[in-house]
Amino acid sequence: MAETFDVVIIGGGITGAGVARDCALRGLRCLLVEKGRAGRQTTAASTHLIHGGLRYLLYDRLTTQTTCWDSGNIVRIAQGLPHRLPIVWPVYRGHRHGLETVETLLEAYDRLQPMKLGRPHLRLSAEEALRLIPKLAPDGLLGALVFDEWWVDPVGLVEANLASAKRSGATVKEGVRVTGFERSGAAVAGVRLDSGETAFARLVVNAAGPWVERIAALAELRVPMRLQKGTHLAYPPLPELLNASGHPLGLLLEAEGGDRYVFVVPLGTEVFVGPTDIPYPGDPDALQTTEDEVGYLYRSAKRYLPLPERFDHTVIGARPILGQAGSEKLLSREYEVVDHEVRDRVAGLVTIAGGKLSDFRLMAQDAGDLASKKLGKGGPCRTHLERFDGQPVGDIPYYPPPPRSLKRFLRRHPRLRELHALGHLGYQFAGHLGRKLIGGCPEATLDDFRKNYADA
Ligand SMILES: Cc1cc2nc3c(=O)[nH]c(=O)nc-3n(C[C@H](O)[C@H](O)[C@H](O)COP(=O)(O)OP(=O)(O)OC[C@H]3O[C@@H](n4cnc5c(N)ncnc54)[C@H](O)[C@@H]3O)c2cc1C
Repeated sequence: MAETFDVVIIGGGITGAGVARDCALRGLRCLLVEKGRAGRQTTAASTHLIHGGLRYLLYDRLTTQTTCWDSGNIVRIAQGLPHRLPIVWPVYRGHRHGLETVETLLEAYDRLQPMKLGRPHLRLSAEEALRLIPKLAPDGLLGALVFDEWWVDPVGLVEANLASAKRSGATVKEGVRVTGFERSGAAVAGVRLDSGETAFARLVVNAAGPWVERIAALAELRVPMRLQKGTHLAYPPLPELLNASGHPLGLLLEAEGGDRYVFVVPLGTEVFVGPTDIPYPGDPDALQTTEDEVGYLYRSAKRYLPLPERFDHTVIGARPILGQAGSEKLLSREYEVVDHEVRDRVAGLVTIAGGKLSDFRLMAQDAGDLASKKLGKGGPCRTHLERFDGQPVGDIPYYPPPPRSLKRFLRRHPRLRELHALGHLGYQFAGHLGRKLIGGCPEATLDDFRKNYADA
C-alpha cells in the first residue's frame, strides 16, 4: 500500500464512516481502516435511536438543540432507513417526576422537535394509555405522555455511509488493525497495520470511539475519556406486549431506584431493554455484562410489563464520552475535534471524540472542514445536501445554531450549563402551569394518537 492518501481514518464505527463520506464527497482521497467489521462495536450496541437527547434538556440544553438539528439532517439523507417510533412514558403514583414535570420537559422538547421532523407530544389519561398498551400495569398509573424519536439500524447506517464514500472513491479495509504511527520527524505520516503494511497519509483522523485514548497513546498523546458502560437485554419480538394497537411502540420507564430511566425499543428483529450507564475505566475490548446489570434491567421493566424472564442475549458497549469534570449525571455528550498540531505540536493527526450516533454527520462535517483546511484541498461539506442514494436532499429549513462562544463558555462551567438548562425549564414550567389553569393542556384520545403517528 505504497500510495499516499489525503486522509486515513482509524475506526469504522458511525463516526469514522461519517468522516469517510464527508471527506470523499469533498474530493479527498481516503482510506478507512477498521480492526473488525464496520459498525459492529459501540455503534451496534447503541439503543438505535436518532434522538435529540431529551434528558440533556435538564443540564445541557445546547447539546440537545444541536443534536436535534443534525438528527433532522440524518433523517433527510438516510431516507427509508429511519423509522418514526412513538415512545410512551407512563407516569405512576410515587414516581420521581410527576405528570406536570414530564409534560413540561416534553413541551420544551416540542420546540426543538421540528428540527428533527418530530411531532408534538400527546398526553393520555390512564384509561387511554391502557387502551394503547393493554398489558401495561394499571395499579397507580396516573397517565402517560407520548413523544417520538427515530429508530435506525445502526449497522445499516454505517454501511450506507461507507457505500456513499466508496462511490466517491474512498477505500475501506475491514479486519485490519492500526498498531502504530509512521512518523516523519515529530509529524504523523501514516499508520502501521497488523498486516505488516503501512498506509501513508497527509492527515490521519483518529475516530476510534472508546478506543481514541489508546490510539492517541500510540503517538504519545493524551485524549482523556470518561467511558460509560451500557448493557441492553435483547428479546425476540414481543408483539402482544408492544404492538397490540397495531403500532410498534417504545416505552420510557422509570427504572428501579427512581433515579434513571430505561427504554424498551421494539423495532428491527429484536426488542431492546436498557441501557445501563456505569463508569468504565477499563479496556473497551474487555467489556462484560454483570448479573447485577441483568437483574436491574429485568426488574426495572418487569414492574410495568409482563416481560418474560428469558431474554436471548445481552448487547454491550462503552459510550465514548469526553473526559470532563463534574458528576456522572451531568456528563455532556458534546464532541470535540482535536487538532494535535495546534494542541501538541504533532502535525498530521486529528482526533474526533465524544458525540452520539445522532450527530455523527455534524461531527464528520467539523472533522472534514478541518481536514480540507489543513490540506488546502477539497470542497465544502456536502453530506447534508446529498442523500445516501445520491439524490439531492432539496430544501433544508434554516434553524439558527446556538452561539459557539456560549457553548464553549458553558462547557468550561458545568454548573452554569445546568443552571442555563434549568432556567429554561423553569420558564417553561411556569407557562405550563398557566396553560393548565386555563384548560390549555387537553388529553388526547387514541384517535389523536393514530392521527399523530399515522406514518409510524
Ligand atoms: C449502551 C449505549 C446506548 C447508546 N444509545 C445511543 C442512541 O440511542 N442514540 C445515539 O445517538 N447514541 C447512542 N449511544 C452513543 C453512540 O452509540 C456512540 O456515540 C457512537 O456509536 C460511537 O461511534 P464511534 O464510531 O465513535 O465508535 P465505535 O462504533 O466503537 O467505532 C469505533 C471503531 O474503531 C475501531 N477500532 C478501534 N481500535 C482500532 C484500531 N487499532 N485499528 C482499527 N480500528 C480500530 C473499533 O473496532 C470500532 O469499530 C449509545 C452508546 C451506548 C454504549
